[in-house]
This record gives sequence, C-alpha cells and structure tokens, in this order.
Amino acid sequence: MPFDGIYISREIPPVPTGGQKRPRKYLYIALAAILFTSIFGALYFFETTTIFVRKPIPLPTEENQNFLNQVTQCFIPIATVYGYDLRITAGFRSITEQTQIYNSGRTLDGHIVSEAPPGHSLHNYGYAVDVADRTAGYNLNWTKLVKIASYCSLESGGVGDLPHFEYRDGLTTDQFLAGMRPPPLTLPCAVMASRSATGTPLTLRDLNACGAPKF
Ligand SMILES: [Zn+2]
Repeated sequence: MPFDGIYISREIPPVPTGGQKRPRKYLYIALAAILFTSIFGALYFFETTTIFVRKPIPLPTEENQNFLNQVTQCFIPIATVYGYDLRITAGFRSITEQTQIYNSGRTLDGHIVSEAPPGHSLHNYGYAVDVADRTAGYNLNWTKLVKIASYCSLESGGVGDLPHFEYRDGLTTDQFLAGMRPPPLTLPCAVMASRSATGTPLTLRDLNACGAPKF
C-alpha cells in the first residue's frame, strides 16, 4: 500500500495511574478534618463532656436562689419560732470584695477578718450567709442554731466562724472553682414554702406537724 502522507497511530496512550491517587488522598484528609472539627465542635457546644474540652465557667454574680430559699424559708423561720430574730449580714461576695476582705490585716490596715483567699469562700459562689440577731448580735446559743441549720441541710462555719452558714455537700472550694455545684436543696417540709408564699409566720405547730425535732 502506497504511503498517502497521513499516518494514524493505532497505539492507545496508557491511562495514567498515579495521577488519580493524589486528589483522593487530599479528599480523605479534608473529610477527616471536617469530622474532627464537627465532633469536637459538638462536644464543646453541648458540653457533654469536660474531659476533652473545658469551657470556662462564668463566676456567679449573686446568691444562689435555691440556697437562699433554704435560709429564708427554713433556717430563719425555725430560728424565729425558737425566739431568735436573725438577719443576714453577708451573702454573695464578688472576688474583688473577697480580695479586699482577705487583704484586710494582711496587706491593708485593719484586723484579719477572713481566712479565705479570693475564690476560696462559698460567699464567692452564692452558697453562704453570715447571720446575726437583731437585738442580741452574736451573743447567741450557736449550738442550737447549728442544729436548726443542720435540719435545713446547711452547714456551720464552725467554732472559728460561728455566724457563717453554707451549703457545699462535701465539695471543696477548688471543686466550686472548677465549676462543680452541690445538688439542689429541698425544704424538709412543704408547709415552709406555703408559709413563705403567703407571708404568714411558721409556727411550732407547723414544725410538730412536719415531724421536726425539738431544738
Ligand atoms: Zn461567712
């Protein structure tokens, strides 16, 4: 056959094999990155765990309402039944206020008034009150008041801090600082909530009906 000037190669060029693997590798990396971001993003958003991601816990700015209810609907009304006229002299205290109080007698003039550094008093978390009697001041039967407080699930500040009552349920201040909180308190008797709601004083008869001990 004579050569007509046109030559068509019948050879089919080989299909490149290495070229398709590279983009797929990047696809896998991208997918893994998306998966990783969404899992940890979800953990962070829903706070399902604090093992991997710890969201900063905002410090409270006021007394815990559940704790305060226990003080004003259980502790103080029972104390009133037994002849005391308690008022709350200190409740929530910010870190700034705690710093000033802690520095008093240390770096500032004055007496030492607190042994708790900032962040290490339950006043800083809204789980503590200090009380005094409107007429007798601090000249009170603290043993009796500690028993009343204990009936209301509140804990005394102890010998060194008698006017102080708090609720920590075994948690340390470091645990409070890390964001942990005790479970909500419940009133020992339902009548306490209704007395508070209607503004009528709790009576000894109420306490007897509740099955409360004599204090
Ligand atoms: Zn206190």
